[in-house]
Amino acid sequence: MTDNKDINGLEAIYLAAIDSNVRFITAVAGYPMTAVADYFFKESDSNDYDIHWFTNEKAAMEAVLGASVTGRRSMVLVKHVGINLLSDPLMTAMMHTIGAGLVILVGDDPGAKASQNEQDSRFYGALSETAVFDPATPKDAYLSLQRAFELSEEAKVPVIVRITDRLDKREQSVARIVSKKEDADIPEKKLDRDIWKFTMHGKHQRFHMESEPLLIHEAENSCFNRISINGEIVGIISSGYPSSIVDNILSTQVTYSDYSHLALGLVSPFPKNIVKQFIDKHKRVLVVEESEAVIESYISTCNNVLGKKSGHLPVGMIEKEHVEFALENIDMNELTKYTEIQTIASRGSKPICCDCPFMPLYNVLHDIEPVAGDMGCSIRTAPDPLNAVNTGFALGGAISTACGFPGKGIAVIGDFGLAHSGIVGLINAVNGGFDILVIILQNDIAAMTGGQETANLYDLVKALVPDTIIFNIDNSISLEGSVKTQNIIKDMIREKQEAKGVSVIYLEGKCTLH
Ligand code: SF4
Repeated sequence: MTDNKDINGLEAIYLAAIDSNVRFITAVAGYPMTAVADYFFKESDSNDYDIHWFTNEKAAMEAVLGASVTGRRSMVLVKHVGINLLSDPLMTAMMHTIGAGLVILVGDDPGAKASQNEQDSRFYGALSETAVFDPATPKDAYLSLQRAFELSEEAKVPVIVRITDRLDKREQSVARIVSKKEDADIPEKKLDRDIWKFTMHGKHQRFHMESEPLLIHEAENSCFNRISINGEIVGIISSGYPSSIVDNILSTQVTYSDYSHLALGLVSPFPKNIVKQFIDKHKRVLVVEESEAVIESYISTCNNVLGKKSGHLPVGMIEKEHVEFALENIDMNELTKYTEIQTIASRGSKPICCDCPFMPLYNVLHDIEPVAGDMGCSIRTAPDPLNAVNTGFALGGAISTACGFPGKGIAVIGDFGLAHSGIVGLINAVNGGFDILVIILQNDIAAMTGGQETANLYDLVKALVPDTIIFNIDNSISLEGSVKTQNIIKDMIREKQEAKGVSVIYLEGKCTLH
């Protein structure tokens, strides 16, 4: 045991992985996971693990599955939208079984501070039927990750640990537990090929008869689900970081000293027995969670449950004042405080950099519609005053979205979005005989996620789409000036719009921020 003074939750995750003998890590850049991945990349020379950036979460998941089945503890780091993509191999891995422990570390973004949506990864526990840890503190994060590796091996399934950027904000002393696994001569866990004697349906049956009972037992008996009964009137159920807020209020405000607290650190499989016992013991129950009403949705048929659905708490991020307001109004059945919809005007805008090399393009797109945008900097050109792109559904999604536009649809996509999944949209556009113009912004980095290097797919695109031209904006601006460059781009777009089939304009420019 080693004492570490005051580490934040992200460092706790890093140390827990090291102390759990993780051997293979893949990561896809994106808020808030880039900061976690940075810990691992920074220390990779002094540790015995392989770590790789991936451009796509499904591929990143498939790689860690490969490591797991051949006996290496592995971990994949993705942001919340990334779990949508990796859910494809995850769903099958649950039936297939794995080998060494495999943890999916997913970072949610309550408040959608740097994300295209505010989805809640805890829902993937119910969908995939695996365990989801939701740690509240750095210490919980450390212990949860260690237990997740063990549980993954016991149940032979990937296990999810869900964190938020809140873990970065709090520091706490954490006692490290260094695994003695290597010294103990324990054989490596590898895929048991016996699984192939079952049909696909049989694998599903095996999951429910062997793996699921282990996961349910874990959830109902987990030390991460802490109960503190202090009275019979009000009980609070929470998970993740909001549990720390509740602990703080109950321990410092004497008015609430007889309120009970059930803090769930393992939310899936849903520990229905301990939750039911807790609800039965109290007259009114407040559920405090972020971002969605996940716990609340399991128990909303109980008529004494309050939370987001009753209007006591807002959707998304939870702050201390939200919980205090809910507790002050605990006798009300419904509230209507949180009805104002956040606008860019009320929050403040997050515009693109005013010296962005692609500004001449955005000025041209201002007068054209519809234009399919992608995730990345270009999505910030959608609101006033630029009004450059009209849509933004998913990273890599612009090309396929433009295929649905009438006439020759226009897609604007960054090089990272293209490498992530946009290239598949381009293949479909070519094979499907669509008329579209794809404008690829090539700056060689993932600018929105911190400047990670991005693959240059020009040769691949040129092979796929003969009508591909390349134009260096920086050179043009320095030779011709911004206004002339803008006119050149406008003429290029007009010309390509008149051609049949798929056309590509590759715009090269150097990001001025990274
Ligand atoms: S980060 Fe780079 S690419 Fe993005 S808007 Fe700023 S200058 Fe342009």
